[in-house]
Amino acid sequence: MPFSPGPRASLALGVALAAALVSLLLTGDAQASLIVLVCAVAAVLIAGGGEPVAPPAPAPVPDVREPAIADIIEAIGEPILVIDASRVVAANAPARTLLGGHILGEDIRVAIRHPAAAERLVNPGDGGPSGPVHLVGLGARDQRWEMRVRTLEDGRRVVHLVDHTGSYAADRMRVDFVANASHELRTPLASLLGFVETLREEAGDDPETRKRFLKIMHDEARRMRRLVDDLISLSRIEAEKYRKPSDSVDLGQLVREVCEELSGSGDARAADLRTDVAETQPVRGDRAQLSQLLHNIVGNAMKYGREGTPVSIALLPDGKAMARLTVTDQGEGIAPQHIPRLTERFYRVDSGRSRSVGGTGLGLAIAKHVVERHRGRIDIASKLGTGTSVTILLPVIKP
Ligand code: ADP
Repeated sequence: MPFSPGPRASLALGVALAAALVSLLLTGDAQASLIVLVCAVAAVLIAGGGEPVAPPAPAPVPDVREPAIADIIEAIGEPILVIDASRVVAANAPARTLLGGHILGEDIRVAIRHPAAAERLVNPGDGGPSGPVHLVGLGARDQRWEMRVRTLEDGRRVVHLVDHTGSYAADRMRVDFVANASHELRTPLASLLGFVETLREEAGDDPETRKRFLKIMHDEARRMRRLVDDLISLSRIEAEKYRKPSDSVDLGQLVREVCEELSGSGDARAADLRTDVAETQPVRGDRAQLSQLLHNIVGNAMKYGREGTPVSIALLPDGKAMARLTVTDQGEGIAPQHIPRLTERFYRVDSGRSRSVGGTGLGLAIAKHVVERHRGRIDIASKLGTGTSVTILLPVIKP
Protein backbone atom coordinates (compact mmCIF):
# COMPACT_ATOMS: atom_id res chain seq x y z
CA MET A 1 0.00 0.00 0.00
CA PRO A 2 1.54 3.44 -0.85
CA PHE A 3 2.42 5.68 2.10
CA SER A 4 0.60 8.92 2.14
CA PRO A 5 1.09 10.88 5.39
CA GLY A 6 -2.11 11.56 7.20
CA PRO A 7 -2.52 14.47 9.67
CA ARG A 8 -1.18 12.43 12.62
CA ALA A 9 1.91 11.23 10.67
CA SER A 10 2.70 14.83 9.55
CA LEU A 11 2.55 15.98 13.17
CA ALA A 12 4.91 13.14 14.25
CA LEU A 13 7.41 14.02 11.50
CA GLY A 14 7.36 17.66 12.64
CA VAL A 15 8.04 16.57 16.26
CA ALA A 16 10.95 14.29 15.09
CA LEU A 17 12.51 17.17 13.14
CA ALA A 18 12.16 19.51 16.13
CA ALA A 19 13.72 16.88 18.45
CA ALA A 20 16.74 16.49 16.09
CA LEU A 21 17.22 20.30 15.97
CA VAL A 22 17.02 20.63 19.81
CA SER A 23 19.54 17.74 20.14
CA LEU A 24 21.90 19.53 17.68
CA LEU A 25 21.60 22.89 19.53
CA LEU A 26 22.06 21.37 23.01
CA THR A 27 24.80 18.83 22.25
CA GLY A 28 26.38 20.32 19.09
CA ASP A 29 26.79 16.70 18.03
CA ALA A 30 25.54 16.56 14.40
CA GLN A 31 26.01 12.79 14.18
CA ALA A 32 23.88 12.08 17.28
CA SER A 33 21.20 14.52 16.05
CA LEU A 34 21.15 12.75 12.67
CA ILE A 35 20.68 9.39 14.44
CA VAL A 36 17.74 10.88 16.48
CA LEU A 37 16.15 12.17 13.26
CA VAL A 38 16.54 8.86 11.35
CA CYS A 39 15.11 6.83 14.29
CA ALA A 40 12.14 9.19 14.68
CA VAL A 41 11.34 9.06 10.95
CA ALA A 42 11.59 5.24 10.98
CA ALA A 43 9.23 5.06 13.98
CA VAL A 44 6.73 7.33 12.18
CA LEU A 45 6.94 5.19 9.03
CA ILE A 46 6.29 1.96 11.00
CA ALA A 47 3.44 3.44 13.09
CA GLY A 48 1.84 5.24 10.13
CA GLY A 49 1.81 2.11 7.90
CA GLY A 50 -1.74 1.17 9.08
CA GLU A 51 -3.19 4.59 8.51
CA PRO A 52 -6.04 4.45 5.97
CA VAL A 53 -5.51 5.83 2.54
CA ALA A 54 -8.33 8.05 1.38
CA PRO A 55 -10.37 6.19 -1.34
CA PRO A 56 -10.09 7.52 -4.85
CA ALA A 57 -12.92 9.79 -5.95
CA PRO A 58 -15.75 7.68 -7.46
CA ALA A 59 -15.82 7.45 -11.23
CA PRO A 60 -18.92 9.09 -12.71
CA VAL A 61 -21.82 6.52 -12.97
CA PRO A 62 -23.12 6.20 -16.51
CA ASP A 63 -26.79 7.21 -16.82
CA VAL A 64 -28.59 3.87 -17.07
CA ARG A 65 -31.95 5.03 -15.75
CA GLU A 66 -33.92 4.86 -18.99
CA PRO A 67 -33.33 1.20 -19.82
CA ALA A 68 -33.58 0.23 -16.12
CA ILE A 69 -37.00 1.80 -15.57
CA ALA A 70 -38.32 0.40 -18.85
CA ASP A 71 -37.11 -3.09 -17.82
CA ILE A 72 -38.59 -2.80 -14.35
CA ILE A 73 -42.05 -1.74 -15.53
CA GLU A 74 -42.00 -4.45 -18.22
CA ALA A 75 -41.96 -7.05 -15.43
CA ILE A 76 -45.20 -5.70 -13.91
CA GLY A 77 -48.53 -7.19 -14.96
CA GLU A 78 -50.59 -3.99 -14.76
CA PRO A 79 -50.38 -1.07 -17.21
CA ILE A 80 -47.61 1.37 -16.26
CA LEU A 81 -46.39 4.45 -18.14
CA VAL A 82 -43.56 6.85 -17.41
CA ILE A 83 -44.02 10.42 -18.60
CA ASP A 84 -41.51 13.22 -18.88
CA ALA A 85 -43.12 16.66 -19.09
CA SER A 86 -46.21 15.44 -20.90
CA ARG A 87 -44.59 12.84 -23.22
CA VAL A 88 -44.74 9.09 -22.72
CA VAL A 89 -41.09 7.93 -22.37
CA ALA A 90 -41.77 4.33 -21.32
CA ALA A 91 -44.79 2.02 -21.32
CA ASN A 92 -44.94 -1.67 -20.40
CA ALA A 93 -46.68 -4.39 -22.46
CA PRO A 94 -50.06 -4.23 -20.59
CA ALA A 95 -50.11 -0.42 -21.14
CA ARG A 96 -49.34 -0.85 -24.84
CA THR A 97 -52.07 -3.51 -25.13
CA LEU A 98 -54.61 -1.27 -23.40
CA LEU A 99 -53.74 2.02 -25.08
CA GLY A 100 -52.04 0.95 -28.32
CA GLY A 101 -48.45 0.30 -29.37
CA HIS A 102 -48.10 3.85 -30.73
CA ILE A 103 -48.17 5.62 -27.33
CA LEU A 104 -44.37 5.83 -26.88
CA GLY A 105 -43.32 9.43 -27.50
CA GLU A 106 -46.93 10.64 -27.63
CA ASP A 107 -48.48 13.37 -25.54
CA ILE A 108 -50.13 11.70 -22.53
CA ARG A 109 -53.50 13.30 -23.34
CA VAL A 110 -53.44 11.56 -26.71
CA ALA A 111 -52.13 8.31 -25.22
CA ILE A 112 -54.86 8.08 -22.53
CA ARG A 113 -57.90 9.52 -24.22
CA HIS A 114 -59.92 10.10 -21.08
CA PRO A 115 -61.01 13.52 -19.76
CA ALA A 116 -60.47 12.69 -16.06
CA ALA A 117 -57.00 11.28 -16.78
CA ALA A 118 -56.03 14.27 -18.94
CA GLU A 119 -57.16 16.72 -16.26
CA ARG A 120 -55.12 14.98 -13.55
CA LEU A 121 -52.00 14.60 -15.69
CA VAL A 122 -52.01 18.09 -17.14
CA ASN A 123 -52.59 19.70 -13.71
CA PRO A 124 -50.36 17.57 -11.52
CA GLY A 125 -50.84 19.92 -8.51
CA ASP A 126 -47.87 20.21 -6.16
CA GLY A 127 -46.11 17.25 -7.73
CA GLY A 128 -46.32 15.09 -4.59
CA PRO A 129 -48.41 11.92 -4.22
CA SER A 130 -52.09 12.63 -4.53
CA GLY A 131 -55.31 10.63 -4.57
CA PRO A 132 -56.17 8.13 -7.29
CA VAL A 133 -58.51 9.02 -10.15
CA HIS A 134 -61.30 6.65 -11.24
CA LEU A 135 -61.59 6.12 -14.96
CA VAL A 136 -64.71 4.47 -16.40
CA GLY A 137 -64.75 3.26 -20.00
CA LEU A 138 -61.01 3.17 -20.68
CA GLY A 139 -60.35 0.24 -23.02
CA ALA A 140 -63.87 -1.20 -23.05
CA ARG A 141 -67.08 0.65 -22.19
CA ASP A 142 -67.70 -1.13 -18.89
CA GLN A 143 -64.06 -1.26 -17.75
CA ARG A 144 -63.15 0.58 -14.58
CA TRP A 145 -59.62 1.64 -13.69
CA GLU A 146 -57.94 3.43 -10.85
CA MET A 147 -55.15 5.71 -12.04
CA ARG A 148 -52.34 6.40 -9.55
CA VAL A 149 -49.63 8.98 -10.30
CA ARG A 150 -46.29 9.32 -8.52
CA THR A 151 -43.69 11.98 -9.22
CA LEU A 152 -40.05 10.84 -9.22
CA GLU A 153 -37.18 12.99 -7.86
CA ASP A 154 -36.15 14.03 -11.38
CA GLY A 155 -39.66 15.28 -12.19
CA ARG A 156 -40.74 12.32 -14.34
CA ARG A 157 -44.09 10.80 -13.41
CA VAL A 158 -45.11 7.14 -13.15
CA VAL A 159 -48.72 6.46 -14.13
CA HIS A 160 -50.08 3.16 -12.78
CA LEU A 161 -53.46 1.83 -13.94
CA VAL A 162 -55.18 -0.72 -11.68
CA ASP A 163 -58.09 -2.72 -13.13
CA HIS A 164 -61.10 -2.51 -10.77
CA THR A 165 -63.65 -3.97 -13.19
CA GLY A 166 -63.79 -7.37 -11.43
CA SER A 167 -64.00 -6.05 -7.87
CA TYR A 168 -66.62 -3.48 -8.93
CA ALA A 169 -68.76 -6.25 -10.50
CA ALA A 170 -68.32 -8.42 -7.36
CA ASP A 171 -69.40 -5.50 -5.13
CA ARG A 172 -72.42 -4.84 -7.34
CA MET A 173 -73.36 -8.51 -7.26
CA ARG A 174 -73.17 -8.62 -3.48
CA VAL A 175 -75.31 -5.48 -3.11
CA ASP A 176 -77.87 -6.82 -5.63
CA PHE A 177 -77.93 -10.21 -3.91
CA VAL A 178 -78.69 -8.73 -0.48
CA ALA A 179 -81.39 -6.47 -1.99
CA ASN A 180 -82.97 -9.39 -3.90
CA ALA A 181 -82.87 -11.79 -0.95
CA SER A 182 -84.47 -9.17 1.34
CA HIS A 183 -87.15 -8.48 -1.23
CA GLU A 184 -87.89 -12.20 -1.73
CA LEU A 185 -88.26 -12.69 2.04
CA ARG A 186 -90.23 -9.53 2.63
CA THR A 187 -93.02 -10.43 0.17
CA PRO A 188 -94.23 -13.63 1.94
CA LEU A 189 -93.60 -12.00 5.32
CA ALA A 190 -95.85 -9.03 4.44
CA SER A 191 -98.51 -11.47 3.25
CA LEU A 192 -98.28 -13.47 6.49
CA LEU A 193 -98.56 -10.36 8.66
CA GLY A 194 -101.54 -9.14 6.62
CA PHE A 195 -103.43 -12.44 7.12
CA VAL A 196 -102.61 -12.56 10.84
CA GLU A 197 -104.06 -9.04 11.23
CA THR A 198 -107.22 -9.98 9.30
CA LEU A 199 -107.71 -13.15 11.33
CA ARG A 200 -107.39 -11.22 14.58
CA GLU A 201 -110.25 -9.05 13.48
CA GLU A 202 -113.71 -10.10 12.30
CA ALA A 203 -112.56 -12.62 9.61
CA GLY A 204 -111.21 -14.92 12.31
CA ASP A 205 -114.75 -15.74 13.46
CA ASP A 206 -115.78 -17.40 10.21
CA PRO A 207 -114.46 -21.02 10.12
CA GLU A 208 -114.37 -21.18 6.30
CA THR A 209 -112.44 -17.96 5.92
CA ARG A 210 -110.07 -18.95 8.72
CA LYS A 211 -109.34 -22.29 7.06
CA ARG A 212 -108.67 -20.62 3.70
CA PHE A 213 -106.42 -17.96 5.23
CA LEU A 214 -104.49 -20.50 7.28
CA LYS A 215 -103.79 -22.49 4.10
CA ILE A 216 -102.39 -19.38 2.39
CA MET A 217 -100.31 -18.55 5.48
CA HIS A 218 -98.96 -22.09 5.56
CA ASP A 219 -97.95 -21.85 1.87
CA GLU A 220 -96.25 -18.49 2.42
CA ALA A 221 -94.36 -19.80 5.45
CA ARG A 222 -93.21 -22.82 3.43
CA ARG A 223 -92.10 -20.51 0.64
CA MET A 224 -89.99 -18.57 3.14
CA ARG A 225 -88.50 -21.79 4.45
CA ARG A 226 -87.58 -22.97 0.93
CA LEU A 227 -85.89 -19.66 0.28
CA VAL A 228 -83.95 -19.71 3.56
CA ASP A 229 -82.92 -23.35 2.91
CA ASP A 230 -81.67 -22.45 -0.58
CA LEU A 231 -79.80 -19.40 0.73
CA ILE A 232 -78.07 -21.55 3.35
CA SER A 233 -77.22 -24.22 0.74
CA LEU A 234 -75.79 -21.63 -1.62
CA SER A 235 -73.59 -20.06 1.04
CA ARG A 236 -72.35 -23.50 2.21
CA ILE A 237 -71.49 -24.58 -1.33
CA GLU A 238 -69.74 -21.28 -1.98
CA ALA A 239 -67.76 -21.59 1.24
CA GLU A 240 -66.52 -25.03 0.12
CA LYS A 241 -65.79 -23.90 -3.43
CA TYR A 242 -62.05 -24.55 -3.22
CA ARG A 243 -62.29 -27.82 -1.25
CA LYS A 244 -62.24 -30.70 -3.68
CA PRO A 245 -64.84 -33.36 -2.77
CA SER A 246 -63.18 -36.59 -1.67
CA ASP A 247 -65.90 -39.31 -1.47
CA SER A 248 -66.53 -41.84 -4.19
CA VAL A 249 -70.15 -41.50 -5.38
CA ASP A 250 -72.00 -43.96 -7.59
CA LEU A 251 -73.89 -41.50 -9.78
CA GLY A 252 -76.15 -44.18 -11.30
CA GLN A 253 -77.36 -45.29 -7.89
CA LEU A 254 -77.85 -41.65 -6.82
CA VAL A 255 -79.95 -40.89 -9.94
CA ARG A 256 -82.17 -43.90 -9.20
CA GLU A 257 -82.55 -42.83 -5.56
CA VAL A 258 -83.50 -39.24 -6.41
CA CYS A 259 -86.04 -40.44 -9.00
CA GLU A 260 -87.59 -42.78 -6.44
CA GLU A 261 -87.83 -39.92 -3.93
CA LEU A 262 -89.48 -37.66 -6.50
CA SER A 263 -91.82 -40.46 -7.66
CA GLY A 264 -92.94 -41.03 -4.08
CA SER A 265 -93.36 -37.34 -3.33
CA GLY A 266 -97.00 -37.28 -4.45
CA ASP A 267 -96.12 -34.74 -7.17
CA ALA A 268 -98.61 -34.81 -10.06
CA ARG A 269 -95.68 -35.24 -12.47
CA ALA A 270 -94.15 -38.23 -10.65
CA ALA A 271 -95.57 -40.70 -13.16
CA ASP A 272 -93.86 -38.89 -16.07
CA LEU A 273 -90.28 -39.62 -14.97
CA ARG A 274 -88.32 -41.87 -17.38
CA THR A 275 -84.80 -43.02 -16.50
CA ASP A 276 -82.10 -44.53 -18.67
CA VAL A 277 -79.13 -45.17 -16.41
CA ALA A 278 -76.06 -46.93 -17.82
CA GLU A 279 -73.12 -48.23 -15.80
CA THR A 280 -70.58 -45.44 -15.28
CA GLN A 281 -67.44 -45.10 -13.20
CA PRO A 282 -68.05 -43.49 -9.80
CA VAL A 283 -67.32 -39.78 -9.47
CA ARG A 284 -65.29 -38.07 -6.78
CA GLY A 285 -68.03 -36.04 -5.13
CA ASP A 286 -70.10 -34.70 -2.30
CA ARG A 287 -73.19 -36.96 -2.20
CA ALA A 288 -75.53 -34.43 -0.53
CA GLN A 289 -74.58 -31.69 -3.00
CA LEU A 290 -74.94 -33.99 -6.03
CA SER A 291 -78.35 -35.09 -4.74
CA GLN A 292 -79.41 -31.45 -4.44
CA LEU A 293 -78.15 -30.80 -7.98
CA LEU A 294 -80.30 -33.69 -9.30
CA HIS A 295 -83.37 -32.56 -7.33
CA ASN A 296 -83.05 -29.04 -8.75
CA ILE A 297 -82.57 -30.04 -12.40
CA VAL A 298 -85.17 -32.84 -12.44
CA GLY A 299 -87.50 -30.68 -10.33
CA ASN A 300 -87.29 -27.87 -12.92
CA ALA A 301 -88.09 -30.28 -15.76
CA MET A 302 -91.15 -31.45 -13.80
CA LYS A 303 -92.22 -27.86 -12.97
CA TYR A 304 -91.72 -26.28 -16.39
CA GLY A 305 -92.47 -29.26 -18.67
CA ARG A 306 -96.04 -29.64 -19.98
CA GLU A 307 -98.29 -31.82 -17.86
CA GLY A 308 -98.48 -35.41 -19.05
CA THR A 309 -95.29 -35.19 -21.17
CA PRO A 310 -92.25 -37.31 -20.20
CA VAL A 311 -89.28 -36.03 -18.21
CA SER A 312 -86.28 -38.08 -19.40
CA ILE A 313 -83.19 -38.60 -17.25
CA ALA A 314 -80.27 -40.28 -19.02
CA LEU A 315 -76.88 -41.14 -17.51
CA LEU A 316 -74.24 -42.34 -19.97
CA PRO A 317 -70.45 -42.49 -20.07
CA ASP A 318 -68.90 -39.66 -22.09
CA GLY A 319 -65.59 -41.07 -23.23
CA LYS A 320 -63.41 -42.60 -20.54
CA ALA A 321 -63.06 -39.52 -18.38
CA MET A 322 -66.59 -38.16 -17.91
CA ALA A 323 -70.15 -39.12 -17.04
CA ARG A 324 -72.93 -37.33 -18.92
CA LEU A 325 -76.29 -36.71 -17.27
CA THR A 326 -79.05 -35.25 -19.45
CA VAL A 327 -82.47 -34.16 -18.21
CA THR A 328 -84.97 -33.36 -20.96
CA ASP A 329 -88.49 -32.00 -20.73
CA GLN A 330 -91.18 -31.12 -23.24
CA GLY A 331 -92.15 -27.66 -22.01
CA GLU A 332 -92.44 -24.17 -23.42
CA GLY A 333 -88.69 -23.85 -23.66
CA ILE A 334 -86.54 -20.79 -22.98
CA ALA A 335 -85.76 -17.94 -25.40
CA PRO A 336 -82.02 -17.85 -26.31
CA GLN A 337 -81.37 -14.42 -24.75
CA HIS A 338 -82.21 -15.76 -21.27
CA ILE A 339 -80.02 -18.85 -21.38
CA PRO A 340 -76.65 -17.26 -20.42
CA ARG A 341 -78.26 -15.63 -17.35
CA LEU A 342 -80.23 -18.59 -15.96
CA THR A 343 -77.54 -19.57 -13.45
CA GLU A 344 -77.48 -16.06 -11.91
CA ARG A 345 -79.07 -15.87 -8.48
CA PHE A 346 -82.76 -14.90 -8.62
CA TYR A 347 -82.80 -14.71 -12.42
CA ARG A 348 -86.14 -15.97 -13.71
CA VAL A 349 -87.64 -15.90 -17.19
CA ASP A 350 -91.14 -15.45 -15.77
CA SER A 351 -91.21 -14.51 -12.06
CA GLY A 352 -94.96 -15.09 -11.69
CA ARG A 353 -94.71 -18.58 -13.16
CA SER A 354 -91.66 -19.45 -11.02
CA ARG A 355 -93.42 -18.35 -7.81
CA SER A 356 -96.64 -20.15 -8.71
CA VAL A 357 -94.72 -23.45 -8.99
CA GLY A 358 -92.81 -22.83 -5.76
CA GLY A 359 -89.54 -21.62 -7.33
CA THR A 360 -86.97 -19.61 -5.35
CA GLY A 361 -84.91 -18.46 -8.35
CA LEU A 362 -81.83 -20.13 -6.81
CA GLY A 363 -82.05 -23.70 -8.15
CA LEU A 364 -79.78 -23.26 -11.17
CA ALA A 365 -77.35 -20.99 -9.29
CA ILE A 366 -76.93 -23.81 -6.75
CA ALA A 367 -76.56 -26.34 -9.60
CA LYS A 368 -73.82 -24.25 -11.23
CA HIS A 369 -71.85 -23.95 -7.99
CA VAL A 370 -72.11 -27.70 -7.28
CA VAL A 371 -70.92 -28.53 -10.80
CA GLU A 372 -68.01 -26.06 -10.55
CA ARG A 373 -66.92 -27.53 -7.21
CA HIS A 374 -66.89 -30.98 -8.87
CA ARG A 375 -64.80 -29.64 -11.81
CA GLY A 376 -67.69 -30.41 -14.18
CA ARG A 377 -69.74 -28.51 -16.76
CA ILE A 378 -73.38 -27.54 -17.13
CA ASP A 379 -74.98 -26.80 -20.51
CA ILE A 380 -78.56 -25.66 -21.10
CA ALA A 381 -80.10 -26.09 -24.54
CA SER A 382 -83.67 -25.09 -25.27
CA LYS A 383 -86.08 -24.58 -28.12
CA LEU A 384 -89.15 -22.40 -27.70
CA GLY A 385 -92.30 -24.48 -27.94
CA THR A 386 -90.36 -27.76 -27.84
CA GLY A 387 -88.59 -28.06 -24.52
CA THR A 388 -85.36 -27.84 -22.57
CA SER A 389 -82.40 -30.12 -22.09
CA VAL A 390 -79.89 -29.65 -19.27
CA THR A 391 -76.63 -31.60 -19.60
CA ILE A 392 -74.16 -32.08 -16.79
CA LEU A 393 -70.69 -33.50 -17.35
CA LEU A 394 -68.78 -34.76 -14.33
CA PRO A 395 -65.28 -36.25 -14.27
CA VAL A 396 -65.24 -39.90 -13.20
CA ILE A 397 -62.64 -41.60 -11.02
CA LYS A 398 -60.13 -43.26 -13.35
CA PRO A 399 -60.36 -47.08 -13.20
P1 ADP B 1 -86.71 -21.34 -10.05
O1 ADP B 1 -86.72 -21.63 -8.62
O2 ADP B 1 -87.41 -20.08 -10.41
O3 ADP B 1 -87.14 -22.48 -10.89
P2 ADP B 1 -84.07 -21.80 -11.14
O4 ADP B 1 -82.81 -21.14 -10.77
O5 ADP B 1 -84.17 -23.24 -10.93
O6 ADP B 1 -85.21 -20.99 -10.37
O7 ADP B 1 -84.35 -21.49 -12.66
C1 ADP B 1 -84.25 -20.16 -13.11
C2 ADP B 1 -85.29 -19.91 -14.19
O8 ADP B 1 -84.94 -20.66 -15.34
C3 ADP B 1 -86.70 -20.34 -13.83
O9 ADP B 1 -87.37 -19.34 -13.13
C4 ADP B 1 -87.28 -20.58 -15.20
O10 ADP B 1 -87.74 -19.36 -15.72
C5 ADP B 1 -86.12 -21.06 -16.02
N1 ADP B 1 -86.05 -22.52 -16.17
C6 ADP B 1 -85.28 -23.38 -15.48
N2 ADP B 1 -85.46 -24.64 -15.90
C7 ADP B 1 -86.35 -24.58 -16.89
C8 ADP B 1 -86.95 -25.56 -17.75
N3 ADP B 1 -86.65 -26.86 -17.64
N4 ADP B 1 -87.84 -25.13 -18.68
C9 ADP B 1 -88.13 -23.83 -18.79
N5 ADP B 1 -87.61 -22.87 -18.01
C10 ADP B 1 -86.73 -23.23 -17.08
